[in-house]
Amino acid sequence: MEEHVALARFTTIGTGGPARFFSRPETIDELIEALRWARHAGVAVEAIGLGSNVLVHDAGVDALVVKLAGELAAVRIEGDVLVAGGGAPNAVCLHRARAAGLGGFEFASAIPGTVGGGVRMNAGAYGHEWRDVLVEAVVVDANGVRTMAAADLDLSYRHSRLQPGDVVAQVRLRLEPSTPAAVKARVAELLAQRKATQPTNKRTFGSVFKNPSAELGAGRAIEECGLKGHRVGGARVSPRHANFIENAGGATSADCLELMAEARRRVFARFGVELEHEVRFLGPLVLPPLQGEEAPAAN
Ligand SMILES: Cc1cc2nc3c(=O)[nH]c(=O)nc-3n(C[C@H](O)[C@H](O)[C@H](O)COP(=O)(O)OP(=O)(O)OC[C@H]3O[C@@H](n4cnc5c(N)ncnc54)[C@H](O)[C@@H]3O)c2cc1C
Repeated sequence: MEEHVALARFTTIGTGGPARFFSRPETIDELIEALRWARHAGVAVEAIGLGSNVLVHDAGVDALVVKLAGELAAVRIEGDVLVAGGGAPNAVCLHRARAAGLGGFEFASAIPGTVGGGVRMNAGAYGHEWRDVLVEAVVVDANGVRTMAAADLDLSYRHSRLQPGDVVAQVRLRLEPSTPAAVKARVAELLAQRKATQPTNKRTFGSVFKNPSAELGAGRAIEECGLKGHRVGGARVSPRHANFIENAGGATSADCLELMAEARRRVFARFGVELEHEVRFLGPLVLPPLQGEEAPAAN
């Protein structure tokens, strides 16, 4: 167990303060031991994958932050099932699937996280999401280990039924026969699409807000409020896609939060829509309520 570990380097946006406690368990037993220690000490537990959808408070997180390693980040293939530790990066899973001639996970090529984070978020892209491939997940909390079938996780748009303190230690993904060449070609196609529409070489935490509806994307709503390129401190709304915040140099999490608050205010004033954040907060980050703000008059 380490103490006061800087988390900025474990997040893709590169902001935020330290974790009060930090653990990198490599086996299920080590994970259970860490979670039981936290329960005994009265400390909250937060899992972190590749930090690609989190914003950490600048003052840090008063919790035990768990980052899975060793066999909890390893990948193997069993027939057409990919078995991965919750801390396995999607890129490694995709590489192993491709080498084994298995397709169906290409949609995750542009999602720079882990499979455990993917379950938590029911991550998805290009019309596919974790729900489509997940068979079951091994979930660990301070009480022990349980295996949850995909149906029991209640996966929907960027939502799962996982509770605070639940850690996804292993997943089984059902893939389908393909060829390495076909997987490679599909990945190239998807990455080219991604590059054409989103910032791919900037420090971001992915989508800031959930899309309010199929008709109104969060990016379009924020763009129509004139916020593309808008800057607070070292953070700015991506000039490329307005539902991304970039660390343009020296950003703090407070800068990001202020930009988010401004986007919510303006979108509410213009469209009467309350944007809900997709990025997960670690530590006591709170967006100001919209009560008292003017919504547009109905006509
Ligand atoms: C450039 C970029 C593009 C992106 N594009 C997409 C996209 O197309 N689609 C999409 O859905 N997302 C996208 N994201 C967001 C992000 O990559 C996904 O949400 C991803 O699934 C998060 O995985 P992670 O391992 O990084 O989780 P983290 O960001 O570390 O954590 C996210 C949440 O999952 C929890 N968590 C992490 N690991 C575990 C675990 N083992 N057990 C339990 N809970 C856990 C954390 O506590 C937190 O609540 C993008 C991000 C970036 C930076």
